[in-house]
Amino acid sequence: MTVETINPATGQVEYTLELMDGVAIEAILAASETAFPAWSSRPLEQRGDFLRKVGALLRQRQHDLQRTITAEMGKLRKEALAEINKCADACDYYAGHAADYLQDRPVATDAQRSYVRYEPIGCVLAVMPWNFPLWQVFRFLAPALMAGNVAVLKHASNVPRCADAIADLLRDAGVPHGVFAALHIDNDQAAEVLRDPRIAAVTLTGSERAGRSIAANAGDQLKKCVMELGGSDAFVVLDDADLDQAVAGAVASRFGNVGQTCIAAKRFIVTERIADEFVRRFVDAASRLNAGDPNDEATTLAPMARQDLRDELHKQVRASMAKGAKPLLGCEPDASTYAGYPASILDAVRPGMAAYGEELFGPVASILRVADEAEAVRVANDTSFGLGGSVWTRDRERGDRVARQLQCGAAFVNAIVKSDVRLPFGGSKRSGFGRELAEHGIHEFMNIKSVYIA
Ligand code: NAP
Repeated sequence: MTVETINPATGQVEYTLELMDGVAIEAILAASETAFPAWSSRPLEQRGDFLRKVGALLRQRQHDLQRTITAEMGKLRKEALAEINKCADACDYYAGHAADYLQDRPVATDAQRSYVRYEPIGCVLAVMPWNFPLWQVFRFLAPALMAGNVAVLKHASNVPRCADAIADLLRDAGVPHGVFAALHIDNDQAAEVLRDPRIAAVTLTGSERAGRSIAANAGDQLKKCVMELGGSDAFVVLDDADLDQAVAGAVASRFGNVGQTCIAAKRFIVTERIADEFVRRFVDAASRLNAGDPNDEATTLAPMARQDLRDELHKQVRASMAKGAKPLLGCEPDASTYAGYPASILDAVRPGMAAYGEELFGPVASILRVADEAEAVRVANDTSFGLGGSVWTRDRERGDRVARQLQCGAAFVNAIVKSDVRLPFGGSKRSGFGRELAEHGIHEFMNIKSVYIA
């Protein structure tokens, strides 16, 4: 089967590709099975040296990689370069910290000696999305390789050249054949690969729909899975917030990557006393974003990654407006472009609307007005998602108090939610389970073994 990728800025076919057949898939799985024992028994310092080389190559090739990312999914040049450098930093981070994270942990018991040991488990299948086409891959891959695992990647079908570019980076850094490979396969083939006994575990970053399907297959095969799914993060603005800071954060969080970020602020929960002022300033700042060519330095709002995603987003906006949500900015697709959607703000969002209960994966902010802090917390938690959330207040103690009550995997005070290799990342509720990054991430795909010597 042939698949096409379309440049979202131009609407032109960017690349066509034949999906792999069973023979090609078999060769990749066989190579990963052969590579695992040698890779996992290499000294950790050697695996670290390979990762540092991958990091150096990422930095060296950043301009070529940026052009590939932007052509395939439309990301702004500046944002793509930041993403690539973040991947390089993650390679260095795990190369430097793995020895600490993976050392045996003595535990006092009634044994003469007892300890906990971390052992790799084999080949991890990664099913990844297009929105951060390099970062999503490296945040699972760097710890997986340092742990001694090997990996195969099924990337989103609109970013095949990003997948190949990652495979090239590893090959050119000297990482042995079979340790990592990109599979160009569809979702049915991915389900078959997951059933293969040579696959030990699966990690998915993507939608709830994909999560249900992959987690069900993993459950059927009794294979470990990590699910990094969607979110509808609350951005809670309390009466005493510094509004300049809050508005700058709101624009960066909601409209960065054209809103196509799992941890973007999506629901702006604002206390009545400052709501009009916050909304006025937010609309003003968002209206100054500059849509256009993502390769142009002057552009601050890129096109969305695919036309069908733009159309889906607009359906949610229209459905919310039909139930009484008020458009304050944008809310109509940019018909002069292939996949453009303007910076948009919907006010008076209430329960029962798509903008309240669903994830809006694009540049649309939902305003929810509340009476006070207690109602803000209740509304923030009134969602099936639990990925991230932020609270804005001049009183840090108050911020901490609210942050502790948010039901999510990451709560930030006076800062927008972002991933940081030093902090664990992941969701609660229907945003998924398991963790990536930091020490927690490297332990996800390891056998945590107790050794007891009487
Ligand atoms: P998606 O449609 O679920 O796709 C993600 C990946 O899953 C792609 O490789 C896709 O392949 C594959 N896939 C989709 N359905 C599948 C199925 N039934 N079986 C096997 N694989 C399947 O999600 P997306 O539109 O690319 O990404 C947006 C979503 O990801 C949002 O909900 C966002 O919040 C979430 N996300 C979460 C995180 C996090 O860390 N929690 C980070 C980023 C994004 P194809 O492209 O071939 O369909």
